Amino acid sequence: MALCEICGIREARNECISCHRTVCGDCIITIAGVCVKCSKSDVSDLVTDLKNTKALQFGKFTLASGKESEYYIDIKRAITETRVLVKIAEKISPHATGADRIAGVELGAVPIAVAVALKVDRPFVIVRKERKEHGTGKIFEGELVKGDRVLFVEDVTTTANSLKKAILELRAEGALIEKAVVVVDREEGGQENLGEIGVELIPLVRSTDLLG
Ligand SMILES: [Zn+2]
Ligand SMILES: [Zn+2]
Repeated sequence: MALCEICGIREARNECISCHRTVCGDCIITIAGVCVKCSKSDVSDLVTDLKNTKALQFGKFTLASGKESEYYIDIKRAITETRVLVKIAEKISPHATGADRIAGVELGAVPIAVAVALKVDRPFVIVRKERKEHGTGKIFEGELVKGDRVLFVEDVTTTANSLKKAILELRAEGALIEKAVVVVDREEGGQENLGEIGVELIPLVRSTDLLG
């Protein structure tokens, strides 16, 4: 029996998708696929970047969901810094193994989808918030083949309603979608909401990591 490369106590049953250590069930974050060491350094690293780029703002804000909030997470601002965007793409790309395409909803997720697509060399799809009224009437830009496995990326999720809608739209076009990776999850029901349609929401950072 091979022992866990982190604690050295329990049997190693999982491989970390980031450092490729084989680790036990207690030393892996199952949902993210990374070991506890990678998870910790990944989070603090990205949190520092988000704070340095002023992606976190305090005040009174009305969110897209209509909810009031005392803080606002502006990932768009952070990802205009290519260094941060590259880092985000690097952290998301291990989740793209097995995906035929990367998808993101306009506007915030598009640069992220492009960056991940370039990194893993797969095509990407841009999903519209609303169906185009003229011309093609399409809900997405790009190509989609029935049975394509699609990985969704998102900048911030609160309730994840808009992401859910986009996922259902692409499923109606024949795409297979099992997970979505979000840069920051505000932990306000997004995971549960997507869980209802069988999609796993994987956050790189949680709002508690940012605020704490
Ligand atoms: Zn262990
Ligand atoms: Zn690791």
